[in-house]
Amino acid sequence: MKRFNLQSLIGPNSATIIFFVLSMVVIPSILPNNYWQSIFSTTGVYVMLALGLNIVAGFTGLLDLSYIAFFGIGSYTFAFLCSSHFGIHLPFLVALPICALTAMASGFLLGLTSIRLRGDYLAIVTLAFAQIFRLLLLNLDAPVNITGGVNGIYAFDMINIFSLKVITPENYSSLIWTCALLVFIVSFRLKNSRIGRGWNAIREDELAANTIGINTTRMKLYSFASGALIAGFSGAVFASFQDSVFPNSFGFQQLVIVYCMVIIGGLGNIYGVIAGAVILTVLPEFLREYGGLRMMIYGVVLVSIMAIRPQGLFSAIPGFTRFIKRPDKDETGKLRASTDLYYSQKNDETDKVKYTKQADTLLKIRNISLNFGGLKAIDDLDFDLHKNEILSIIGPNGAGKSTLFNIISGIYQSDHGKVIYRDKDISFFKPHMVAKAGIARTFQNLRLFNELSVIDNIKISRFCRTKAFFFSAILNLKLNKQEEKQTDEKAKEILNMFGQRLTGYRYHQKVSHLSYANRRRVEIARAMATDPQILLLDEPSAGMNPQETLEITKFIKKLRDYYGYTILVIEHKLNLVKAVSDRVIVIDHGKKICEGSYDNVAENPLVVEAYLGKKGKKGNEK
Ligand code: ADP
Ligand code: MG
Repeated sequence: MKRFNLQSLIGPNSATIIFFVLSMVVIPSILPNNYWQSIFSTTGVYVMLALGLNIVAGFTGLLDLSYIAFFGIGSYTFAFLCSSHFGIHLPFLVALPICALTAMASGFLLGLTSIRLRGDYLAIVTLAFAQIFRLLLLNLDAPVNITGGVNGIYAFDMINIFSLKVITPENYSSLIWTCALLVFIVSFRLKNSRIGRGWNAIREDELAANTIGINTTRMKLYSFASGALIAGFSGAVFASFQDSVFPNSFGFQQLVIVYCMVIIGGLGNIYGVIAGAVILTVLPEFLREYGGLRMMIYGVVLVSIMAIRPQGLFSAIPGFTRFIKRPDKDETGKLRASTDLYYSQKNDETDKVKYTKQADTLLKIRNISLNFGGLKAIDDLDFDLHKNEILSIIGPNGAGKSTLFNIISGIYQSDHGKVIYRDKDISFFKPHMVAKAGIARTFQNLRLFNELSVIDNIKISRFCRTKAFFFSAILNLKLNKQEEKQTDEKAKEILNMFGQRLTGYRYHQKVSHLSYANRRRVEIARAMATDPQILLLDEPSAGMNPQETLEITKFIKKLRDYYGYTILVIEHKLNLVKAVSDRVIVIDHGKKICEGSYDNVAENPLVVEAYLGKKGKKGNEK
């Protein structure tokens, strides 16, 4: 008999929804006094604020120190629009979206100028913006009084929502927590959409995200602007609740508090961040009776949490995350020994078309060269890749093989020459455009999204083949639903191609918990999930034992023979090269020294020389 399951009855997140409903309806009416009522409202504001920052810093991994300024922009816009300050008296429901959009527009503009900067540089520019903003607030009171200077602006219009008046502290609590619920839903929907996955990918490995088809610059900009939107929204709500705005509410200290909430909750973890916001707002109040010691205790608690659980209080706790660490059971719940998991792919290939190399050329490499300083990494390289061909590139370490892949996939731009794909010059394509055009790659040194699950790593690759945008994702419209379903099916379909290696409970395992060989497989799967025509595999068997190498050898053959991929593979293990290749190209010092069938190439004296060095002479002289 099926066990009763509350979750399935009211859907996922039931606990969180119940939490918000309690906060909106029940808690405000039972709080003992106005003091606690106001702390409760403040908590709601911080929950919103932290959820917004979580999008930028948590989902996307951007160190945005201007975040608090957008909170301020929202607040001041509200003050301008709903008070006697300028004599504009917009209704609350009209002003609220204007405030949010103003903050978003400011975020977008700042992002345009700074989003290409990374790490520390982004932090410095955004910090400067926040400081300038505060100085403007302080000083724009003369000769024309715009911001009210250090005194700020106060006494706003009464909130009137469809003739429902918001007057008592209780009303405010309910209003604020309703807004918080809204922000939670937006944030939750975004996280579980293609947009959220794209952001996560950027946080985990920006270059890898770019090479699977994500326009990282644009997505970072969206993230920045989304964060600003929520900050502006929270700012407007905050201003109306305070009935005043001052520059001091938007200083560095506030920013640090919000960051602490997000970090303690666990970057990117929505539930954790909500809990972090609640704890850090309420905790200091409980410590109030300790007077001067209060901030010290608070500080010690903060530092301890960060020292003991740097990943955040709530990450990797069952219920908060679903990563399975000890994979002893299969999907039916039966215990399994790891040896049971041996590759046991059914032979379902018989009914499939069998592909072989064709005459037409898919990719033409035309006289490309690339110098690093004085070093000729690629020197006038020229070759063709035919449709449904497996072409191997071999050569000593440092020969320029990986550099060639970097040029094809758009990471490097060659100094001379062209890369032509299906008669189109793609030499100037950025990595995401190359992926979208139909060329996917793996990396010699794995570049997976390590903190994400196996299936999410694959789903991210569907980004460039899906379209659902913010509206569709947030409102979960038909397009989003459809695409999510397809994304899930496609990801599983591809993982299933690897037999039991990557199926069942492995779907939800964190990639960093996988064996090395399995991580290599996930990288290949991730490349396949972008629907490429050409797969570029950079040393797919590196780090694999002989059994695993044999398995991957068969798999590469199968990729072409039964799935019809065109494959360019860099390999050192000659058994593998011999088994899979239609053709082999040998390069040394960035130059092609020989090309032909494996047997021909293996006997070529130049190749023997490149690999073993000339008798009597050392190194790679020619
Ligand atoms: P491999 O054939 O082993 O894959 P690579 O393509 O990685 O060789 O490297 C070819 C040469 O180019 C090496 O000498 C390497 O040190 C150099 N190289 C590769 N990438 C860079 C870079 N970004 N900057 C400077 N030198 C580089
Ligand atoms: Mg290499």
